[in-house]
Amino acid sequence: MSGPPWRRLVGNLRTRPAVLPAPPLEAEAVRDLAARLAAAGIRRLGRGLSLHALDPGSCGGCELELRALAGVAYDLSRFGLRFVDSPRQADVLLVTGPVTRNLQPALVQAWEAAPDPRFVVAIGDCGIDGGVFKGSYAVAGGVDTTLPVDLVVRGCPPAPEEVLEGLLLLLEANAVR
Ligand code: SF4
Repeated sequence: MSGPPWRRLVGNLRTRPAVLPAPPLEAEAVRDLAARLAAAGIRRLGRGLSLHALDPGSCGGCELELRALAGVAYDLSRFGLRFVDSPRQADVLLVTGPVTRNLQPALVQAWEAAPDPRFVVAIGDCGIDGGVFKGSYAVAGGVDTTLPVDLVVRGCPPAPEEVLEGLLLLLEANAVR
């Protein structure tokens, strides 16, 4: 809309924001995946998985998808899977985004604080090789430039179901430490 700013402001107040509808949730599939993941966690660790999200430089998109896992739609806690606030309580570190140089030391500190066995999952294309931030002077690169990575989940951002599938693969893989 052209014209003075106040006219645009009034126009924006009158129109609804452009919001894309969320894709339909495959509730049965999600329930099955989360239940298998919880069972795999109990087989491997004797309890449900504790997840800790770390963001050393993402755009925030991957965090939104991770937060969805903890929200009402996916509600992972009903399967005994939980997000924890401290890496000291975590089995899995979910790292989103590229590793920025200024947060690289903090990422290492968080990893060192997590008890063994600790798994590192690089979430999203940026976590794999820097993604759209690759080549920036402020970015060291993907998560593997800084930490040993056990699993990558591709996507920009990956859907919550893909994160669940990745975690399930991680636990079921023979290569898991
Ligand atoms: S992978 Fe995409 S959504 Fe995730 S941090 Fe990178 S740019 Fe953002």
